[in-house]
Amino acid sequence: MVYLDYNATAPMRPEALEATLSALKSVGNASSMHHSGRGAAARVDVARRQLAELLGCSPGEIIFTSGATEANNLALRSAYARGGTLATTAVEHPAVLETARALTAGKPDTLVIAPVDSNGIADMGPIYEALRTRDVALISVMLANNETGVLADLADLADLAEAAHEAGALVHTDATQYVGRLPLDLADLDVDLLSLSAHKFGGPQGVGALFLRRGATLPHRPLMIGGGHERGWRAGTLNVAGIVGLGAAAEAARLNVRAESVRISGLRDRLEAGLHARVPGCQINGSSAPRLPGVTSITIPGVPADAVLAAMPNVAASDGSACSSGAPSPSHVLLAMGRTRDDADATVRFSLGYATTEEDVERAIETAADAVTQVRALMAATAAT
Ligand code: PMP
Repeated sequence: MVYLDYNATAPMRPEALEATLSALKSVGNASSMHHSGRGAAARVDVARRQLAELLGCSPGEIIFTSGATEANNLALRSAYARGGTLATTAVEHPAVLETARALTAGKPDTLVIAPVDSNGIADMGPIYEALRTRDVALISVMLANNETGVLADLADLADLAEAAHEAGALVHTDATQYVGRLPLDLADLDVDLLSLSAHKFGGPQGVGALFLRRGATLPHRPLMIGGGHERGWRAGTLNVAGIVGLGAAAEAARLNVRAESVRISGLRDRLEAGLHARVPGCQINGSSAPRLPGVTSITIPGVPADAVLAAMPNVAASDGSACSSGAPSPSHVLLAMGRTRDDADATVRFSLGYATTEEDVERAIETAADAVTQVRALMAATAAT
C-alpha cells in the first residue's frame, strides 16, 4: 500500500505513538490533586510546552481541544458573540466556512467571503472594504488549503492583520495543514487565534488546539461548559494520552520540519513531473501559487476521479477533500478557483508527508498512469457501444 493521503490524516510518528501508548498505560486525571493526577498534569504540561515551542508562543496561550473543527468553532463562535461581521475566504475548510454561514444565517449581511483567483489566491479587497465600512468582529484566513496546498502570503496576511487590529477586529487562521509541514513562528505572525489538529502532523486523531494570544479580547463563549478546564475555555477531563501524543509529534515535527519540507517538496516535484509525462492532458491546481511541500491536486479532464481511485486500490489518495467525502457536492475550493463541476469531479489529491519515500512516488506515478489509461479505455469502450 502506498499511502499518499497525509492531508486527510498522517500516520502517527513513532515518537508520538510510543508516548501515547505509554500515557494510556498510566492512570490519572490531570485535575486530581493526588500523585497520579499530578503525574497526568505534568505530562500535559510537557506537551503544552512542546506545542508552544513548535508554534513560537507561550504554553499559557494554548487551549487543548478535540481537533481543528472544535478550535475553529470556538474561535468563530466566541468572536461573533460580540456582534459585527465575520470575514473569511471562499476556500476555507467547512469547519470555518459552514460555521460562519451557520452563525450569520438570517443576517447574511454580517458575512463577507473573499473570492479567490484561478490559482486559489484570495483577493482580500472585500475584507479591506469591510474593515473600512463596517464593524468587523473576526477575519479568518487559512494558512494552507487542504485540497490544493495553496499557501496564504504571510506578508499580505501581516498587512491584513495590521489593518484589522487598527479597526478593532480579531484575526484567526486555520493552520491545520501548515503546522508541522513548514516552519512557523507566532512571534512573527500577528494573528490572535490559530487552530491546529494533531493528526495532520503525526499525532493521534481527536486532539488539537486553539492558540489564543495573551491580551486578545475574545468574548468568553466556551462550547463545553462544565468543570472549568483549560482556563474555562474547554471544560471536560483532559485527553491526557492524546495531548501527550500531540506534544511528542510537535517536538518531532519541530526538529525535522526544515529538512522534511525540502525533501518532501522534491518528492512532490518528481510526482508532478512523472504524472505530466505519463498522463496526457493533466493539470495541476494552484501550480503557479506557492504551495505546501507535499500536495498535488491534479485534474484529468473527462476522467472521473472516483473511477481513477477505484482503479488504483493500492494507492491511498483522495478525490477532493476527504473531510467532505461522502457528500455528493463537488469541491467548493475548485469551483471557487473557476473550475467546472466536471473538472472538480475529475480531480485527485495526492498528499505526501514525513514517511513518504522515493519508491512510494515512483509506484504512485506508475499506478496512477495505468489507472487513468484503464479508465479512459473503459470510457471509450462504453461510448462505442
Ligand atoms: N481545517 C482544515 C484546513 C483541515 O484540513 C481539517 C481536517 N481535514 C480541519 C480543519 C478539521 O480538522 P479535524 O478533523 O481534526 O477536526
